Amino acid sequence: MALQRVAVIGAGAAGLCAARHILSRPNSFARPVVFELTDNIGGTWCYDERVGNYDNGRPVHSSMYRDLRTNLPKEVMMFPDFPFDPQLSSFLPHQEVQRYLERYCHSHNIRPHIRFNTAVENVRPVVEEETTTWEVTSCDSSGGQKTETFDSVFVCSGHYSDPHIPDIPGVENFKGEVLHSHSYRYAEPFSGQSVVVLGAKASGLDISIELAKVGAQVTLSHGRPRLTFPLPSGIQQSSPVVAVQDDGSVRFQDGSVGRADVLMFCTGYNFRYTFLDADQLSLEIQDHMVSPLYRFLTPPAFPSLFFIGICKIICPFPNFDCQEEENRQIQEREDTTKGKMKLKSQRQQQETSICSGSYPQVLKTWLLPQLSICQESNVQFALAVLDGSVSLPSRAEMEDEVRRELQEKVERGVQRRHLLIMEKDQWEYCRTLAHAAGFPPLPPVVRSLYEEVWRQRQIHPQSYRSLNYRLISDTQWELID
Ligand code: FAD
Repeated sequence: MALQRVAVIGAGAAGLCAARHILSRPNSFARPVVFELTDNIGGTWCYDERVGNYDNGRPVHSSMYRDLRTNLPKEVMMFPDFPFDPQLSSFLPHQEVQRYLERYCHSHNIRPHIRFNTAVENVRPVVEEETTTWEVTSCDSSGGQKTETFDSVFVCSGHYSDPHIPDIPGVENFKGEVLHSHSYRYAEPFSGQSVVVLGAKASGLDISIELAKVGAQVTLSHGRPRLTFPLPSGIQQSSPVVAVQDDGSVRFQDGSVGRADVLMFCTGYNFRYTFLDADQLSLEIQDHMVSPLYRFLTPPAFPSLFFIGICKIICPFPNFDCQEEENRQIQEREDTTKGKMKLKSQRQQQETSICSGSYPQVLKTWLLPQLSICQESNVQFALAVLDGSVSLPSRAEMEDEVRRELQEKVERGVQRRHLLIMEKDQWEYCRTLAHAAGFPPLPPVVRSLYEEVWRQRQIHPQSYRSLNYRLISDTQWELID
């Protein structure tokens, strides 16, 4: 049988992972062609001081900021068969993740298969009788366009690049600077300024802390229950911004009004695939939604197109009130006991709760970063579909399954913009893919440590990154000095 030709769009973590697994199956797949619009690998992790557009007019891809340290420990971020340098601490500056991806790329000899400075501009299915092939049109740095044919396309172009900016009436009246976290690089320019940060998820919180450290007066505006963990003195919380008034002042939901020098939107990102024609693919692509995608991966009408790592991962956690109570109790325990023991016992309690599945019925969901590991599961499942080890249901059955899942979410009151967020947790999802495609599921220790870090982050948002962990078996981790 002829080897299948796969086009991979993007050389970030997902694209590298796809290339690595394609290369490891030389009996089924030709060497991949990896299209990368920048001159480097790493995607998000490739820090770039530029904001706005590159010289060629394309928008800057990476949203990385200078002082970012990972919000997950390396022990759960790593691809399962490729550990980070054990000498490194658990929470890494972004440069170390970039180095890790470079090492991954080098050790799997991926670089020769990457076409740098080459943007994919169009991906078009060509259906002949029972067979679909894909015409991929790309444009290199000299402006030369080329169209090539592939059997399959892996979309690994990332989804943290196109800023989502909610509609705020009157925002054009704002007299100061308006920017999105996508264009934030470091805090110094904001020293002494008053900044309203909109959104208190990972970036909103981290950036607020960075700003407060350089003496900015930060108003952290969000619609979540009030954060009760300690925040630096320069940060005050407020309800969501609802409008900017004619005189440039900012009005909040609770009726209060304030003035600021800067409005910083930390409000997430849109899905954006300029190279796809949604109608042609029978897909609906909106800011926060790509549908239908069977198993968050492939359009039922074209199951040789795969979106790697598209689902936003959510870890279901207890109702916020219960969480608050639990945090308070943990804090109390920590106040009275010092050293490792307290964390170990806390961990044991958490493990008991995880193992016994004792989450309260009313769940509060909380967005967490995507694990590369999930990208890996996506890639392995997709390749198993292509090489025939996994048979997909019929198109109608896949569409039905997706429709049922979405309907069920809508009935439970999930907002439309959250439909691509997994309701069941990522662990079950990865397990299902692993089971279907016959690759090893994630060891339980990954989930256990991931959830421990999440808890620590809720209690100590400023210092949780100073802890260091070590995996000691498939089921156990320990805290190290
Ligand atoms: P990307 O890294 O975005 O890579 C996509 C690649 O595709 C880029 O190289 C881009 O240039 C290329 N590309 C795009 N369009 C085209 C095109 N048309 N043609 C050719 N090439 C194209 N995750 C964690 O696990 N831990 C963390 O601590 C963490 N922190 C984060 C902090 C920030 C500020 C952000 C934005 C994300 C963070 N993440 C974190 C999530 C992170 O994005 C993922 O871990 C991962 O890097 C995503 O990889 P990717 O390959 O899907 O996308």
